[in-house]
Amino acid sequence: MQQNRFQKHTITMFTLVLITVSIASCSPGKESSAHKETDAAVATNTPKLILQITVDALRGDLPGRFSHVLGEGGFRYLMDEGIHYSNAHYQHANTETIVGHVSLATGTVPAAHGMIGNVWFDREQGRLVYNIEDADYHLLTVGADVDKQTEIDPTQKAAKVDGRSPDNILTSTFSDELAIHFAGQSKIFAVSVKDRGAVSLAGHAGKAFWFSKATADFVTSNYYYNEYPAWVQAWNAKKLAQSYADKSWELLHPSSKYMLGDADDREYETDLAGFGRTFPHPYGKTDDKYFTTKLTLSPAGDELTLDFAKTLLEKEQLGQDNIPDYLAISFSSTDYVGHLFGASSLETEDNIAHLDRTLADLFAYIDQKVGLDNTLIVLSADHGQPEVPGYLHELGIDKAHYFDAESLDKTPAIVALKKKFGIGEELIKAFFQPYVYLNHELIRQKKLDPLEVEQAIAAELLKFKGVAYAVSSTALRTASLPDTLMMRSILRNFHPKRSGDIFVVFEPNVFINDFDGLTVASTHGSPWHYDTFVPVMFAGAGLPSAKVDRAVTPYDIAPTLAAYLSVKPPSGSIGTPLSEVTGN
Ligand SMILES: [Zn+2]
Repeated sequence: MQQNRFQKHTITMFTLVLITVSIASCSPGKESSAHKETDAAVATNTPKLILQITVDALRGDLPGRFSHVLGEGGFRYLMDEGIHYSNAHYQHANTETIVGHVSLATGTVPAAHGMIGNVWFDREQGRLVYNIEDADYHLLTVGADVDKQTEIDPTQKAAKVDGRSPDNILTSTFSDELAIHFAGQSKIFAVSVKDRGAVSLAGHAGKAFWFSKATADFVTSNYYYNEYPAWVQAWNAKKLAQSYADKSWELLHPSSKYMLGDADDREYETDLAGFGRTFPHPYGKTDDKYFTTKLTLSPAGDELTLDFAKTLLEKEQLGQDNIPDYLAISFSSTDYVGHLFGASSLETEDNIAHLDRTLADLFAYIDQKVGLDNTLIVLSADHGQPEVPGYLHELGIDKAHYFDAESLDKTPAIVALKKKFGIGEELIKAFFQPYVYLNHELIRQKKLDPLEVEQAIAAELLKFKGVAYAVSSTALRTASLPDTLMMRSILRNFHPKRSGDIFVVFEPNVFINDFDGLTVASTHGSPWHYDTFVPVMFAGAGLPSAKVDRAVTPYDIAPTLAAYLSVKPPSGSIGTPLSEVTGN
């Protein structure tokens, strides 16, 4: 185990060196001159609390686009009183949840932190694995595992065991560095509806809690605890989720206040088990098998997360002494709402309005308990999201469609491969976005050249309508491809032990919308700008207000937090501390 770990790190470090070199030479942020001057002051006081908020799938433009539904004290506090970086993009190709969350936590790219996708094919086990599953641990709550009958997230279903831990995260997180620096005296917690939204940011040293749709509780694994703290049991005993029974997700404002108030019913929106395409969306009764799922597809999921986080903050007494504590909260509803209804739906517009109230409630509570001046807040997202093709079609933008992998005629491709290599579909072991995994044993047995096989399959994939790139990993790792931004973003996603053999990129506004049988409105995960674009906002701790349009990356966040606290940066960090925040 120890040796295995060491080998992993050695290879990662090697990759990291390559990646760091390529990023240093191309990072758009570091040479841009479009930079508004700020009156950043040197921050002298160590904050009592660092609050790291992630809004799952909050594309960078959404808070401003829907600013007419915002109130006071939430997003407006961050945007008007904090430092708002309005031009932040990820630079890795697979813009999925775990990849983004771990990049926020570690300040580096998947090639270094190792979380290359929500799911990858584990060649030792010969199966697809879920990013944070860990057979060495178990959930503390019996029956809280993913219910494969009702789980709509296909990546969650890949997990074979109920155990969860950060073991697969190969580099340190900012929260780990905080623990190291303060000799374990910092209290470190992370909370989310999604397990991966919490485990990622808690790092290896912190504690994570997430929502079980099977039991309607916040749960954890025995990686973190041997038994629940009393306050967690008490929180679960109050059964807050159940209080949504027979209620509905209703609009926060009169419909005339919304940009999309007249566009509620769209045929491309998903109607999951009676949740409907129009307001109000009924949650149903507690015995409805999709009851808890519906809570997560609405602002209710974020409200539950907020309530749990507030209780945690109070009961664990975060921010009450001079050793800085860390609380990460990942709000998941925006992602689920985007998948089901799209980024330009009344549901997304209203969800942002509700999320804004959730944030305002959180900030007011922290102000009362810790003081916002004693709290350094950062908000970002793990990825953005695309527009629904049907929405673009309504506007006359026809270059958008769903990619239906099932209905493709693959016969000509298989015939071509058979002609070349004597074998066809047996060469392919698995496809799980974005990677095609090949049968290495068969390639060895037949004495085929891996590069030749990968490139031949890539050439066939490129013939399918909607495929923009199909990139051979062997070509990538031997640097035999043109040095373009796209190749670099795929290289930053490449980890030799986990990445597949061919990376598939669809054309802009083309994506697969099949969630294991459930047809959804949209799916993120591409290297295109709508998926890489996220907000980065810092506030509290006496920071000045500023709007910065210089290009930055979310990898800058962890090293910025580290620099602000004079803590060493995470082990794989490639980001640059943001000077408007550090005051340097
Ligand atoms: Zn998502």
